[in-house]
Amino acid sequence: MALVVQKYGGSSVGDPERIRNVARRVSRYRAQGDDVVVVVSAMSGQTDRLLQLAGELAELPNEREMDVLLATGEQVTIALLAMTLIEMGCPARSMTGVQVQIRTDSAHTRARIAGVDTAVVRTVLEGGQVAIIAGFQGVDPAGNITTLGRGGSDTSAVAVAAALGADSCEIYTDVDGVYTTDPNICDKARKLDRISYDEMLELASLGAKVLQIRSVEFAKKYKVPLHVRSSFNDTEGTWVVEEDESMEQLTVAGVAYDRKEAKISVRGVPDRPGIAAQLFGALAAQNIVVDMIVQDVGEGGQASMTFTVPQADLKRALTVIEPVARELGSAQVVSDTSIAKISVVGVGMRSHAGVASRMFEVLAREGINVLMISTSEIKVSCVIEEKYTELAVRVLHDAFGLAETKGQEAAKRGG
Ligand code: ADP
Ligand code: ASP
Ligand code: MG
Repeated sequence: MALVVQKYGGSSVGDPERIRNVARRVSRYRAQGDDVVVVVSAMSGQTDRLLQLAGELAELPNEREMDVLLATGEQVTIALLAMTLIEMGCPARSMTGVQVQIRTDSAHTRARIAGVDTAVVRTVLEGGQVAIIAGFQGVDPAGNITTLGRGGSDTSAVAVAAALGADSCEIYTDVDGVYTTDPNICDKARKLDRISYDEMLELASLGAKVLQIRSVEFAKKYKVPLHVRSSFNDTEGTWVVEEDESMEQLTVAGVAYDRKEAKISVRGVPDRPGIAAQLFGALAAQNIVVDMIVQDVGEGGQASMTFTVPQADLKRALTVIEPVARELGSAQVVSDTSIAKISVVGVGMRSHAGVASRMFEVLAREGINVLMISTSEIKVSCVIEEKYTELAVRVLHDAFGLAETKGQEAAKRGG
């Protein structure tokens, strides 16, 4: 008898028939004698609808209240799934993040999990019931409801699996696993049987939303093997595990894109020490994460500073930056949301030169202008105009031979 944690994303619980489909799968595991803990997301589109409602009533909605609002999405699905299971004759009990005690810090809308109490969940399991937990939400030390950032149910599931010492953690979604790139925009994307935590961390941090980055960090830290698979069929999905010799050692393992960043330029700032510290210090104090940064030195001792932030934080970032820029006598603050970040990722880059130059070449051949660049040991990212996102993903996926199988690639490289 195994203890299994299963997470079902928004599209897997998007309508009554899909909820019934999930319930059938859960009861099948129960019938085999497994203990099952289910973590669910809100029905697809629901979190967006709630965000939009909030936006219609407040310019910068209060973040504590935003979390109270957003957490309702998952409260709907835990109840619906529990009643469906009970109707099928499979005992089940739903629980919110507060009821379980998924403890987080107080960073509303992007809280981090500090610990998960297992007592209530274990009591439910010992009573022969399926434990159904609301994903994406927790409770801070003062008892406030918090949420974990978009895609946070993945992290809830992995944290619960780690705390319970579960035998497996299955992430059910609307694609068959982790692919070399988003299969919804590139029909040559290839499903990976296995991927290392490190590569998955990079892909997730660069926008491959199939797993939230925090969930992969948790899985790596607590050595929880993840099985990402479809809730619509029984096909074996992708295992996210420790790197080992038998893994494909391609130079580039995947291509990711992120359309959710915004670019801010502060033009005409004095070119002297301390300016960057002042600008970025102000953003950090507001918990706004800055991703790429480029500084151009212009005429007459003036510089311009361009950087990216999550689109969701753009309004807040501008309210922080505008007064600082004024203080510096800066001419202009401009922002642009029609950008995308395209990245190629692979642990094989550690030992292969030339990935960045190949990437620039391929983009240039398609007439795609590179606006910003950043690199790390195992990734290269470029910011481009958003309208070129899909084209860039497809040409890079082709150029790095990702559509081909392991054998074909090795043969091409003479291996
Ligand atoms: P869920 O609602 O189940 O959490 P998400 O929409 O958050 O699902 O994540 C699944 C989606 O991630 C897929 O539909 C796909 O469009 C996208 N995706 C992006 N990159 C990848 C990738 N490399 N492999 C698989 N899916 C990806
Ligand atoms: N419902 C939340 C979201 O849409 C959390 C999740 O789906 O994982 O981001
Ligand atoms: Mg998700």
